[in-house]
Amino acid sequence: MSGSLAIIGLGPGGDRYLTREAEEALEGAEALYGYGPYLDRAPARAGQTRHASDNREEATRATAALSHAAQGAHVGIVSGGDPGVFAMAASVCEEIAAGPESWRALDIRVVPGITAMLAVAARAGAPLGHDFCAISLSDNLKPWDLILKRLDAAAGAGFVVALYNPVSRARPWQLADAFARLARHLPDATPVIFGRAVGREEESVTVTTLAEAERIAADMATLVIVGSAETRLIAREGRAPLVYTPRAVEKVIA
Ligand code: SAH
Repeated sequence: MSGSLAIIGLGPGGDRYLTREAEEALEGAEALYGYGPYLDRAPARAGQTRHASDNREEATRATAALSHAAQGAHVGIVSGGDPGVFAMAASVCEEIAAGPESWRALDIRVVPGITAMLAVAARAGAPLGHDFCAISLSDNLKPWDLILKRLDAAAGAGFVVALYNPVSRARPWQLADAFARLARHLPDATPVIFGRAVGREEESVTVTTLAEAERIAADMATLVIVGSAETRLIAREGRAPLVYTPRAVEKVIA
């Protein structure tokens, strides 16, 4: 019997953000692997085993799921948001690349989900309406100097920047440093959006400016979008402003 491994994106929050494909993949799995709180989001299914692991144990989890699938089982790994964005799909590929030949014969499927950046952008309006990029501020897997270089390159070239993993207990200062770096290239009034736990009950979205951004609290459940020099706000009476980046740019940035 040949085994399979589905790497399943759950979206940013509740069931509303789960695609039909993801729902089917969850149902079809005999064994589900993942970070405990994500596993709890998958509806219970009779006969399905659950294998919870800590958030940081991606490589061990990927290896365990691959070994299980190699025994002929239909296995699923769950991931918040999209599994291909700073998440499990790349981790599984890394383990296949380094692992036994038999893992290459497995049926591997990546089931996409709504990534945090898109969920937060939708709440604020259309900040990603023009060219943008995503940068993880976690320096667990890359040096901080490289992150600074990428922030310079992105803001210098006029990209809107989505910042994943802005803060953690072990990384309290990086976000303020990143704002200071981006401020070298951008006006004080550049819109900055903080989206926290978007799609969940405790969701909150704050719109501020780059000059004020340092005062806003962020944590591991927050995604930050820093606009470009073109990003602007439409103020509305009694409603949150619409933040958008126009689709057209005519001038070339010096
Ligand atoms: N694969 C995930 C990202 C994993 S990295 C995805 O596609 O969304 C984890 C980071 O994603 C968090 O530190 C935070 O920046 C962001 N994030 C994940 N879920 C979020 C949510 N519901 N609201 C806001 N940000 C979220």
